[in-house]
Amino acid sequence: MSKNCLFCKIAKGEIPSYKIYEDEKIFAFKDINPLAPIHILIIPKKHIVGLDTVSEEDEKILGNVQIVMSKIAKQFPEMKNGFRIVNNCGADGGQTVLHIHYHLLGGRVFSWPPG
Ligand code: AMP
Ligand code: ZN
Repeated sequence: MSKNCLFCKIAKGEIPSYKIYEDEKIFAFKDINPLAPIHILIIPKKHIVGLDTVSEEDEKILGNVQIVMSKIAKQFPEMKNGFRIVNNCGADGGQTVLHIHYHLLGGRVFSWPPG
């Protein structure tokens, strides 16, 4: 828990969110500014700043995050043909909240390359 971290507060229920999934170590909620029909953020409850600061000890939780994202995606018929996972890392990656999070986007076709 980092004292002034928005996503730590959301994971603890101190700031309201539209919860999609929760277990002991992972929390998922709707993005407040959806960029697709389905836009969910998945976070470890542990305060990790970003993919640029992870360590070996995070191997299990980051693996579990991927399994959870797969399970969530399966619950939405809009994602039966696929979905997009995004992690924005650091200033150049466009990260605005410094608590690692994965965007699960679905319900439309996504283009490549990204902007
Ligand atoms: P990023 O730009 O990758 O750091 O993503 C941060 C995301 O958090 C953005 O898509 C925001 O719309 C989203 N966001 C910011 N504040 C909230 C909030 N209170 N509840 C849900 N999502 C939020
Ligand atoms: Zn945090």
